[in-house]
Amino acid sequence: MLVMKFGGTSVQDAEAIERVAGIVRSRMRRRPVVVVSAFHGVTDQLLTLGQTAACGDGESALAQVRGLRQRHYDTARELLGEDRFRGMRLKLDPQFEVLEQFTRGIAAIRELSARSTDYLLSFGELMSSQIVASALSARGLPALWLDSREYILTNGHFTRATPHYSDTYERMRAGIRPLLIDQQLPVLAGFISATRDGIPTTLGRGGSDFSAALIAAGINASSIEIWTDVDGIMTTDPLLCPQAHCLRRVSFREAQEMAHFGAKVLHPATLVPAMEKNIPVLVLNSRNPKSPGTRITSQPPRGRSVFTAIAARKNISTVTLTAPRESAPHWFLQEVFHILHRGACGADLVAVSEASVSFTLRTGQNTDDLLANLQEIAAVTVEDKQAIVCLLGENIRGRAGIAARAFTALGDAGINVRMISQGASELSLSFVIHERDVAEAVRRLHARFAPEKNTHRRRGQRKPRLIPVEPPLQSDSVGTPEAAHTDQSPGF
Ligand code: ADP
Ligand code: ASP
Ligand code: MG
Repeated sequence: MLVMKFGGTSVQDAEAIERVAGIVRSRMRRRPVVVVSAFHGVTDQLLTLGQTAACGDGESALAQVRGLRQRHYDTARELLGEDRFRGMRLKLDPQFEVLEQFTRGIAAIRELSARSTDYLLSFGELMSSQIVASALSARGLPALWLDSREYILTNGHFTRATPHYSDTYERMRAGIRPLLIDQQLPVLAGFISATRDGIPTTLGRGGSDFSAALIAAGINASSIEIWTDVDGIMTTDPLLCPQAHCLRRVSFREAQEMAHFGAKVLHPATLVPAMEKNIPVLVLNSRNPKSPGTRITSQPPRGRSVFTAIAARKNISTVTLTAPRESAPHWFLQEVFHILHRGACGADLVAVSEASVSFTLRTGQNTDDLLANLQEIAAVTVEDKQAIVCLLGENIRGRAGIAARAFTALGDAGINVRMISQGASELSLSFVIHERDVAEAVRRLHARFAPEKNTHRRRGQRKPRLIPVEPPLQSDSVGTPEAAHTDQSPGF
């Protein structure tokens, strides 16, 4: 059994969905479950129209709903042909009418709460998954649309809900596994879920990857395929650094760290169910399905290099607290963490000295109360427009001098490092810089540590310079599917 998730760009139009149908058909013998994101850009458009309505501009918001309806209908008509499209329209019309009613409601009360946001955003995945399911049926595949809100149960933390894992797994085991045994092709919306009372929730932006992993863990699938718009996980975000290249193998922990520190290619929670059930995750390109992609498993890749990848997260604020002179250091620290805990604010990086604490927060979290509480115990300084850059890899462990080399590369470019964290996770070195320096820092570090991608050397050409590390932790077995995923390029 296999779970295949197709992201927004993989279902952005009829041509892309046609490719999806071909990819799914090629996997039918492995009994796939298909998980689908909203069409590319739709979640952002729903959010914008919700905000427009909440500002009281109902007419403009309704015009945006009409635009979305048109796009979905045009795509469905092109995929299904006129006759089948008529049937599909009977299903979609009432749903778009509900969306229009809801938009009018937001405009009337001029409020878009987190709970309403989740309901609004659910339309993107609901529409796309139903259209994809019909397109697969129209191509002779035994597709069956299932409502994810009946399978993925979460708490009520709207816009970033946490699943009730055992109930969710139980529903999948009981509801989805039998369908697969019966040779059906279940198709579900990613990203969306519901509370035990049936109130729609979402798993956070980019959450369809997480949905796929939850389903895979629930049905005990043999792998999870994340189909996206790049050839796999790359040494860094290709939008930041054009020299980024694809990694054939990455460990679960490396992928988790990358996602946590901003690599958008995977939702950070995706690896939790995969690691728990030891299910390999493959990241593949739906526009280039022959490319081998990246395989993420518990085994660290056999590598000779120090770093696997560089991740970067923008929109960070740093908060620095200076304790009053009379307060005892242990009391001060305890209070700070207590206030963070009460405010449910996760700090990604923390640096502590005797009289002060600095930590990072994601800008935009609702931090007014938190800062007010902190001001009661310390002098507080906040700096916005910061970013975290993270160098990571299983081979970092125990390596001396890495930080010095990295900071020299940044210092040469006049980039000021404001906060450093090494060793907390054993496999990363993270630091805070100003947002405007991110692209330059990533390019410099990539150039400093990455060897030439091209491994076919011409005669007389020098070897790319690699930083040697200890012997490989584990050798790859030859002749297994894993062997096909040995890194061609040696990484950093
Ligand atoms: P999807 O819609 O398929 O879920 P996303 O846009 O969420 O796709 O994720 C894919 C994008 O992630 C890529 O287009 C790329 O710009 C970005 N990205 C950031 N870091 C990396 C990385 N290290 N490797 C690959 N892609 C990355
Ligand atoms: N459509 C959602 C988003 O854009 C979820 C996803 O694509 O994974 O965030
Ligand atoms: Mg994504």
